[in-house]
Amino acid sequence: MSTNSAPTRPRVAIVGIHIESSTFSPQLAVADDFEIRRGSEILERYSWIEETWSQAICWCPIFHARALPGGVLVRETYEGWKTEILTGLRELGEIDGLFFDIHGAMSVVGLDDAEGDLITAIREVIGADPLVGASMDLHGNVSHELFTGCDLLTCYRMAPHEDALESRRRAMRTLALRVLSGAGKPHKALVHIPILLPGEMTSTRLEPARRLYGKIPWLEAQPGVIDAAFWIGFAWADQPRCTAAVVLTGDDARLIEKLASDWAQEIWDARHEFEFVAPVASMADCLTWASTAKRPTFISDTGDNPGAGGGNDTTCALAEMLTYELVMSGDLSAIVASLHDAASVARAVEAGAGGVADFTVGGVIDARDPGPQAITARVETIANDPLGGTTAVLRVLLRDGAETGLRVIVTERRKQYSDLASFTLLGLDPTATDIVVVKIGYLEPDLFEMQRDWTMALTPGGVDQDLKRLGHEKITRPMFPFDDFEDPALTVIMG
Ligand SMILES: [Zn+2]
Repeated sequence: MSTNSAPTRPRVAIVGIHIESSTFSPQLAVADDFEIRRGSEILERYSWIEETWSQAICWCPIFHARALPGGVLVRETYEGWKTEILTGLRELGEIDGLFFDIHGAMSVVGLDDAEGDLITAIREVIGADPLVGASMDLHGNVSHELFTGCDLLTCYRMAPHEDALESRRRAMRTLALRVLSGAGKPHKALVHIPILLPGEMTSTRLEPARRLYGKIPWLEAQPGVIDAAFWIGFAWADQPRCTAAVVLTGDDARLIEKLASDWAQEIWDARHEFEFVAPVASMADCLTWASTAKRPTFISDTGDNPGAGGGNDTTCALAEMLTYELVMSGDLSAIVASLHDAASVARAVEAGAGGVADFTVGGVIDARDPGPQAITARVETIANDPLGGTTAVLRVLLRDGAETGLRVIVTERRKQYSDLASFTLLGLDPTATDIVVVKIGYLEPDLFEMQRDWTMALTPGGVDQDLKRLGHEKITRPMFPFDDFEDPALTVIMG
């Protein structure tokens, strides 16, 4: 394996903490939420590790932690991991490079720029010379500290992130080839663009994001350009660094400065073109619309999307469903997927499959209105989901015991229902269901395939799509669409 170094190969360390954290969600992320890898286990993340270019590097993996999007990471856990990374780097000694495998929107209690804090501390240990390459999500943020600490920064180019692996491979390969070339540090150009938009307005399947990201192959084809990257930024954190950004990397400083400036201007000029990827409405209006929509009808419960950091247990969508006559009468079938609610799962296990019990579901982690909902339900299925843990399907009953058309999924751990297999595991068939409510924003490919009609409910929550309702206080102002302002100076910062 690559870790058993041949002495002549350049040594490149690998470290990273990967999470997207909503600062508007009351939950905290803890160590248990992460998949932690140490040493050679980390290389399992890179299926391309045996490729020729990769074999030319002596990879030195130290520490990597990855979680689903969630809340703000507790400080002690972060500090512990940071110490472990720094200690590992000190023990490793001299290195030629470092691969910083991150998301870019991690929040830590008391820190407004966690990745900037981490890379600054890393530089203090490894020094200024090693080449540092960062691989990020396009919903990450590029602070001055992160930009300063890294020599090569890139991110995904597709939303949904169908190119996540490809992007990580590209970032590693670019870093490896640069280290091997001995060409030293490239020039880099950063432009912050005062635009902050939700991911659901910036899908690369649609204009203008499709066109703006579509420019990357042309940019990278220019002589002297190594990489071109465009971050949408992360809207659900209240931090000065949260904003859109472009970074051009290359050997022709003048050229990348000009290309970064022009591209940033194009993005700014396109700001009014960004629109939601699907029709949006309140949950109540979504249900009115659903009465005549095509089946299956999908409704995204967007404000509590755990895939972006939502608490995964707000009850606005469920509460509306519980008063929706067509489903409560049993005329229409519906699934609410899902609520993270370990107590209700335990109660379902106690009642057993087929058992009937009273439940108070949801609203524990994120208790915003309308809070926990009382239901009587029959336990239809209990299964073990690889991510959600013990999971129960509850069929909601009326007071007289009559069956409604509503099924509610409760999970022991956080879980997003983004693929068909997760439903199939529970014996559920979304394609044979009239209305499927999922805590998600834009539909992941499996769900998009299944839906015949789809709308996004602008529900409240930690990842509210209606950004102005959240009350950001620390983002840089003015910021589109929060403020009305003249064309800003799009300053290029060179490094
Ligand atoms: Zn993302």
